[in-house]
Amino acid sequence: GDHRKFAESGADLQLVGIQKRFPGFTAIEHLDLTIPAGSFFALLGPSGCGKTTTLRLVAGLEEATAGRILIGGQDVTDLTPHRRPVNTVFQSYALFPHMSVLENVAFGLRRRRISDPAAKAHEALRLVELDHVADRKPAQLSGGQQQRVALARAVVNRPALLLLDEPLGALDLKLRRQMQQELKQIQQEVGLTFLHVTHDQEEAMTMADTVAVMHQGRIEQMGAPEELYELPRTVFVANFLGQSNLFPVEVAGTTDQVLHAEFRGMRLSVPRNRSERDSGRITIGVRPEKLTLAHAEPEPDALTNAVGPGRVTDVSFIGVSTQYTVAVPGAGDVQVFAQNLQAGPTAALGDEVWLSWRVEHTFGLLDDPL
Ligand code: ATP
Repeated sequence: GDHRKFAESGADLQLVGIQKRFPGFTAIEHLDLTIPAGSFFALLGPSGCGKTTTLRLVAGLEEATAGRILIGGQDVTDLTPHRRPVNTVFQSYALFPHMSVLENVAFGLRRRRISDPAAKAHEALRLVELDHVADRKPAQLSGGQQQRVALARAVVNRPALLLLDEPLGALDLKLRRQMQQELKQIQQEVGLTFLHVTHDQEEAMTMADTVAVMHQGRIEQMGAPEELYELPRTVFVANFLGQSNLFPVEVAGTTDQVLHAEFRGMRLSVPRNRSERDSGRITIGVRPEKLTLAHAEPEPDALTNAVGPGRVTDVSFIGVSTQYTVAVPGAGDVQVFAQNLQAGPTAALGDEVWLSWRVEHTFGLLDDPL
């Protein structure tokens, strides 16, 4: 649809040296972060990592102990919440039950004496494809529709920055997946800056153009979803975004291109430009879908890493893939996700197998497995 009326209003967000201490607890020690105008940015992390606190600081619902917050270059640190060019969508939609959908969306406009509230509210409802239910009461809508009304209400006055705090958390899985795609489309149409807080890695990766992984009040790694997934820098990121197989090793030698280590008599290599450290102890990692199972030991090959033998302890047929668990002495349970390109599993429970993968898919992490 043509929603250019909403465009050109996104602003960048800068957090400069933010610190947040609660009595007896430091939620954020030091946070520097810039989110470019018009981007869909996800703060991703486990419960308690400080993501909601960060969002509340931006909204003005919490006061930082130190640091500045700038929106579109304007220092808003000392502004009250309603003076900031920011709206928030929460998990609970908090629609007014006695008002129609249209009145819910127009409410903020009327209160701030903005011209043409009804026309603007209809426009926002068209954006979320709910204009046909403008006269209904919230209780007459599904959960997903109510969440879209909340979104229309949040974008109708074109805030420079939209904050989303687990906005899809109350929806069932199927609806959540659908709303993720819709939310992403809406963000692209309106061009606002979205800052989305979630603990759901699939949700963050589906929607955001940039994801920051937060851990214990710090941003541990930030980048495009593919980048974080293919090249995590720490064990925490490698495990939080998808699954990883990790092998703690000691670097034994290097060439211009690769690091070599020995793992139970087998040589493992990591491209130097995919390792955070080039000597001493590192953790070598590889994603489960990069592994291949074989019943015989693979021929040594400079482009391939191999470990084994291990024993298949679980075979789970998922449909699109089969997931194997292989107990490898010294490496614990190794996960292998094999695409089901032909019928039937390639290994059975109890089989002795070797695992191999291309050196180029290997990454080298800074820290030890958790
Ligand atoms: P969740 O997903 O569970 O909401 P979160 O990552 O959003 O987690 P925050 O709500 O930001 O985490 O909380 C970060 C840390 O700060 C937590 O350990 C929390 O207990 C603590 N915290 C939050 N608010 C307060 C407060 N008012 N007083 C003391 N500690 C607090």
